[in-house]
Amino acid sequence: MEDSATGRMPPAARRPASRIGIGHDTHRLESGGPLRLGGLTVPHDRHLVGHSDADALLHAVTDALLGAAAMGDIGELYPDTDPANRGLDSAVMLQEAWRRVRQAGWALVNLDCIIFAQRPKLGPHKAAMAARLAELLEIETNQVNVKAKTGESVGPVGREESVSTQCIVLLEQSGETATEKS
Ligand code: MG
Repeated sequence: MEDSATGRMPPAARRPASRIGIGHDTHRLESGGPLRLGGLTVPHDRHLVGHSDADALLHAVTDALLGAAAMGDIGELYPDTDPANRGLDSAVMLQEAWRRVRQAGWALVNLDCIIFAQRPKLGPHKAAMAARLAELLEIETNQVNVKAKTGESVGPVGREESVSTQCIVLLEQSGETATEKS
C-alpha cells in the first residue's frame, strides 16, 4: 500500500520476492593445457585465454548473479583495461560479486549452468564443478546444476576455437535488509 504522507511505496511492497538473472561468456582456446573451468583445473591439451584466468563458467555465474540483482556486470566490477585484474582468479571476482548481491539482501534459490565445449569430455567433471560453485557461494550442492554440451563439431565451439557458457540464477529476498536503502 502507498504511504499517504510520502506517496511512496514501503520497501517491502516495492521489492519483488524473487529475481531472475542470466549470464553468458565465451573465451578463446589456445594450445597447451590445462583447462581452467568451473573453478577447477581440468587436464586438457588446450587452455582458455583472457585478461583474468579466463574461467568462462565462473564469469557467466558472476554475471547472472549481478544481473538478477540489477547490479551491472563483471566488466564494470573488474575492467579488463585494469592491469590489476590481469591473471586474476575468477573465484575472487565471483565471491566479491556475490558478497555485494548478498549485502543487498538477496539469497540464492538455485543456479543452472551449461558449458559448450567440444573437448574434453566434461561429464566426469560436472559434479565437481557444481560442488566447487556451491563452496564458493556458501550454498548447498543441490542448489547448483552444471550441464555440458559439445558443439557437434560445427561453429567455433565445435572447431575447438572457443568455449562458451550460460548460467541462469534465481534469487529470493534473504530477509536481511539491514543494508537496504529506504
Ligand atoms: Mg569472461
